[in-house]
Amino acid sequence: MSCGQPHETPCTEILDHLYEYIDNEMPEEDCAAFKRHLDECQPCLEKYGLDAMVKKLVQRCCGCDEPPVDLRDKVLARIRHVRGEVAVSGSGE
Ligand SMILES: [Zn+2]
Ligand SMILES: [Zn+2]
Repeated sequence: MSCGQPHETPCTEILDHLYEYIDNEMPEEDCAAFKRHLDECQPCLEKYGLDAMVKKLVQRCCGCDEPPVDLRDKVLARIRHVRGEVAVSGSGE
């Protein structure tokens, strides 16, 4: 669950507070560290992007607790599509 790179803020901490960030419940100073981490860390960025997108879509269209399965699939497909366009260089040892 880590990209193998050293981070100022550990991935576990980022993932623990992911929803605070998405809900804008995070203090300003922590947000900066969060953003920096997401810049460096592909696995966390992906998790954040997925959760934030699902949450936004769900709030907008139905306001229910659980995202519909096909909606989640669509979001996942969209993320894969976007990632395919952003070519990642290097094999990341
Ligand atoms: Zn991370
Ligand atoms: Zn990382």
